[in-house]
Amino acid sequence: MLLKEELSKLVQLQKIDSQLKKLKDDIEINKPAQIEHLKKDFEEIKSQFGISEAKLKESTLKKKDNELTLASKEASLLKTQSQLYQLKTNKEYQAKLNEIASIKSDISVAEEELLIKLEEIDDIKSKAEVEKIKLSEKEKTFREEEIKIQDQIKIIEAEIGKFKTNRDFIKENIDKKILANYENMLEIRHGLAVVPVVNYNCGACYLKLTHQKINEIKMYEHLVLCDSCVRIFYIPEDIDK
Ligand SMILES: [Zn+2]
Repeated sequence: MLLKEELSKLVQLQKIDSQLKKLKDDIEINKPAQIEHLKKDFEEIKSQFGISEAKLKESTLKKKDNELTLASKEASLLKTQSQLYQLKTNKEYQAKLNEIASIKSDISVAEEELLIKLEEIDDIKSKAEVEKIKLSEKEKTFREEEIKIQDQIKIIEAEIGKFKTNRDFIKENIDKKILANYENMLEIRHGLAVVPVVNYNCGACYLKLTHQKINEIKMYEHLVLCDSCVRIFYIPEDIDK
C-alpha cells in the first residue's frame, strides 16, 4: 500500500481511537463516579437514620430504668405508709412521716424524669419516621438510577464493540511497523499521533514548517515527524475524504 494510503488509514484509526477513549472513560470513570455519588448520598441518610435508631434504643432502655425506679419507690411508699399505724410513740410517727415525705419527693422527681424521657422518645420517633421515609425514597432513586446507568453502560459497551470491529478491519491493511509506531505514539502523545499540517503549521503544537518540510511530507516516501512535538504529519487535502 502507498504511504499516503497508510496515512489515510491511520487518520481513520485515530478518529476511532479517540471515540473509543471517550467511551471507555465514560464507562470506566464517569459512570462509576455517578453511581458512587448517588450511593454516597443514600448512605449518608442511611447513617443518619442509624444514629436515630441507636438513640431510640438507648432512650428506651433508660426509660425502662426510670420506670423500674418509679415502681420501686411507689412500692417503698406503700410499705412505709402501712408501717405508720403500727408505731407507738409520737417521735417514731413523726420520723415515719418525714420518711414518707422524702419518698414522695423522690417519686415526683422520678415521675418528672420519666416524663422527660417519654417526650424525648416521642421526638426521636417522629424524627426517625421522617428519616425512614426519606431513606426509602433515596434508596428507590438510587436503585433506579443505578439500573439506568448500568443500562447506559451496556449500550456504550455495544458501541465500543462496533468501533473495535471497525478498527480491526481498518488496521488489517496497515503495515505492521507503521501501526506499531502509531500505537506507541498514540499512547505517549495523549491520543494524538497523526496531525494535519494547517497553514504551514503543525496541527498540534503550531510549529511553523518550512517549504522543504512540506515538500518532504508531500512526497509520501517515509513518515515525516514534527521536530517539536514528534507527531506524524499529513496534508489534509491529500488524505481527508
Ligand atoms: Zn508539532
